[in-house]
Amino acid sequence: MSPPGAADRVVVVGASLAGLRAVEELRRLGYDGEIAVVGAEPHEPYDRPPLSKEVLAGEAEAADTALRRQPLEDLDAAWHLGCRAVGLDVAARTVSLDDGTRLEGRRGVVLATGAVPRPLRGTPDLGGIHLLRTIDDCLAIRADLDGTPSRVVVVGAGFIGAEVAATCRQRHLAVTVLEALPSPMVRGLGPVLGDVLAAMHRDHGVDLRTGVGVDGFDGDGRVEAVRLADGSTVDADVVVVGVGVLPSTGWLEGSGLDVENGVRCDETLLAAPGVVAAGDVCRWPNPLFDGELMRLEHWTNAAEQGVAAAARLLAGDEAEVYAPVPFVWSDQYDLKIQVVGHVRGDDDVAVVDGSLEERRFVAAVGRKGRLVGAVGFGRPRVVMHYRRMIAERASWDEALSRAELSS
Ligand SMILES: Cc1cc2nc3c(=O)[nH]c(=O)nc-3n(C[C@H](O)[C@H](O)[C@H](O)COP(=O)(O)OP(=O)(O)OC[C@H]3O[C@@H](n4cnc5c(N)ncnc54)[C@H](O)[C@@H]3O)c2cc1C
Repeated sequence: MSPPGAADRVVVVGASLAGLRAVEELRRLGYDGEIAVVGAEPHEPYDRPPLSKEVLAGEAEAADTALRRQPLEDLDAAWHLGCRAVGLDVAARTVSLDDGTRLEGRRGVVLATGAVPRPLRGTPDLGGIHLLRTIDDCLAIRADLDGTPSRVVVVGAGFIGAEVAATCRQRHLAVTVLEALPSPMVRGLGPVLGDVLAAMHRDHGVDLRTGVGVDGFDGDGRVEAVRLADGSTVDADVVVVGVGVLPSTGWLEGSGLDVENGVRCDETLLAAPGVVAAGDVCRWPNPLFDGELMRLEHWTNAAEQGVAAAARLLAGDEAEVYAPVPFVWSDQYDLKIQVVGHVRGDDDVAVVDGSLEERRFVAAVGRKGRLVGAVGFGRPRVVMHYRRMIAERASWDEALSRAELSS
């Protein structure tokens, strides 16, 4: 029970994209109570996509990544930056911070703590081995790249690894990419399109090795080589490990919430009465895909879900379901790659525009007779057309026949 006169307050945990968008939406919807935002990083909200692209390339600075152009003060929120939430009392909607502060979110709590890079098990404490999630990670990698290393090794060819490799080549550095799976970005693109990407990286001079496991690292104080599972080694002065992320839910253990692979929410983003989640940390059944549980790790979802979660808190019984078409982009070399919908490795794939040989195309992705996704290489407008069709639940045949009509 709140003491009489307790402040009407929303507590937002996580001061990044989803958290910021939630705060902005609360104000836009007219919420005029208190808002407290808790952020473990000391920085004001900043954008992460440039960290593997322009900032790493040396073409942009940390100051260019601010997520909000207007002053934060305009939002009239209390920002607890450099503070970590360490616990949540769900029934009392109270968040405990590592400095001993307790913040009651009488109106509600938004969980937007994102994700952290999955560490590679057994990684020794050697200089030159990096993970990439924060601006501080990015600047540390950039400082190492500025020293013109003779070889950079990227472990993992997912979105982050592939972008880091492309940026390093743009900086004319020798790059080896080590990927355990048969092709890069295979989880997001499937094997056929992953092979197109593999060819592109090799054409740009990346030593891309797929189907290889990493066994460990050698060095004395600083990394000197990566040991592979087959017993061979690859020399390395700098290593960037990009083998996926884990949702930041450790602080919610014991709260009573279901935090298996993210904070489990209902289709309106509610995790418990008065508690919502958004962004990379949120796992919810997406009604557009027949309630399939999803946890997305992409910018557009974090932004849109932050907005939706804020609206959910204020909506009461009028809550709307959150049913987006997932969307992610990646910039590599001079190419924009876009994936819409929900692509899996074993889906049907049909090129509906351009060609794989040119590496400019749109591929429609189907499953069980339905259009579930589309992948575009250098074709932004056409991809958006497929995004609309996915939202309209177009059948696979319909998607293919519409493609024929427009060709
Ligand atoms: C290098 C890089 C490049 C990317 N490029 C793209 C791209 O090209 N396209 C794309 O679609 N997506 C991209 N993404 C993904 C996109 O940036 C993320 O999906 C997005 O940042 C998720 O936002 P979020 O607010 O959910 O979580 P995050 O951005 O992870 O923010 C969560 C915040 O919560 C804080 N936090 C965690 N635990 C606590 C706690 N206990 N207490 C207080 N605060 C806490 C964290 O410190 C962090 O600041 C990229 C990500 C990275 C790292």
